[in-house]
Amino acid sequence: MTYHSTRGQAPILPFDDVLLSGLARDGGLYLPQAWPHFGASEIKAMAGLSYAELATRVMMPFLDGVIGEDEFADLVADTYKGFGHKAVAPLVQLSANDWLLELFHGPTLAFKDYALQLLGRLFDHVLKKRGERITIVGATSGDTGSAAIEACRDRANIDIVILHPKGRTSAVQRRQMTTVLSSNVHNIALEGSFDDCQDLVKVLFNDQPFRDRCRLSAVNSINWARILGQIVYYFAAGVALGAPERGLSFAVPTGNFGNVYAAVSARHLGLPIRQLVIGSNSNDILTRFFATGRMQSEGVVPTLSPSMDIQISSNFERYLFDLHKGDAAQVTARMGAFRQSGSFAVDDHLWAEARALFDAASFDDEKTLAVMRSLYEETGLLIDPHSAIGVAAGRARRRDETVPMVALATAHAAKFPDAVERATGIRPALPPRLADLFEREERYDVLPNDETAVKDYVAKVAG
Ligand SMILES: *Cc1c(COP(=O)(O)O)cnc(C)c1O
Repeated sequence: MTYHSTRGQAPILPFDDVLLSGLARDGGLYLPQAWPHFGASEIKAMAGLSYAELATRVMMPFLDGVIGEDEFADLVADTYKGFGHKAVAPLVQLSANDWLLELFHGPTLAFKDYALQLLGRLFDHVLKKRGERITIVGATSGDTGSAAIEACRDRANIDIVILHPKGRTSAVQRRQMTTVLSSNVHNIALEGSFDDCQDLVKVLFNDQPFRDRCRLSAVNSINWARILGQIVYYFAAGVALGAPERGLSFAVPTGNFGNVYAAVSARHLGLPIRQLVIGSNSNDILTRFFATGRMQSEGVVPTLSPSMDIQISSNFERYLFDLHKGDAAQVTARMGAFRQSGSFAVDDHLWAEARALFDAASFDDEKTLAVMRSLYEETGLLIDPHSAIGVAAGRARRRDETVPMVALATAHAAKFPDAVERATGIRPALPPRLADLFEREERYDVLPNDETAVKDYVAKVAG
């Protein structure tokens, strides 16, 4: 299996090079040159598999030639064995044909674990084969750093350095990062803001000699392997609800478009997905796109669902490539217009094609809290603000009551306890495996907001 860039000017690469490079050299995103396809009998045969067995079967065609099937099966089994639910991604029934897919049973209680846990292991596998080592560097406002740290901890060929703004993350967020005491994990509490952290990381990556010397790398959300790891739970839900005979629909709380593009990918692979509903918060660029056919960037406002506070959805470029039937020149033109003017439009027939599959709806904080409250009253379930937007979008936009609607629960309620308490009056508890988080030993290094100090630190880590 080989991969090409959405901009058409980067080299065609096999999976291992796509994994390590992330963004394509022409600024585009990598996609498979040809999609594998599972026929009805193959999807039927997925019923009854464990999550790890299913994951191996769904992903194996994408890794052809990079790792053997037995070795990959072992790697996948190891990836999901520590998850907090034996189904890994369990389905919970909300009402007759209304379901919640719980994707918060990983180590950091958010769906990003499902792909990042796999990504860390795949990186390690490829690096070991090549006899190489890398240093992952990233900045976090608190939300995503822990998922990256958990993905890389104890991996033999990876060091990871994460900068967070000192005193400006919640205690739970900080402790999820700083109580990981593995020798390859390095937390910097920077005396500055999140923007300072991000600026310093950019400085490091833009210093090409430094970047090469320290073999810097990132685990960002445009990496193809992130999408790949997320395709699996769409199949798990589909097979559980009667695919291939029965179709189903998904409602996805969306920011960067990565999660919902994994649903598009599952559809390419043959899963009978009837409808995809995108849920947004007040940062509603995607909802406006599906309403108008124009992608128009605006400012970002902070909301109760911070992981969806985005100005642009970088993974949308993959869907744009699909819509243009692989015409990379068209994608390049649209993305160029977007970079120059903050806006692009697609032709009416493509907009219509997009709307044939997608619907979208946005919900402000008040509406989000109202959904959390009413779902709690209906079912007794506590859900987080991101998940609530998914549930609300699915209910608002579903076209066919006879088709199961599966809303993705992307974070555990205990990750956003203030919002949950505000909505329901109940403060959700951390699950048992994290209950002692506040007793655990912390380790981090405080550094000034200073380029040289951070560079010296990273250089030392990179050895
Ligand atoms: C990252 C994230 C999202 C958005 O997912 P995308 O793949 O960026 O669309 C939604 N909910 C939670 C809890 C997240 O962490």
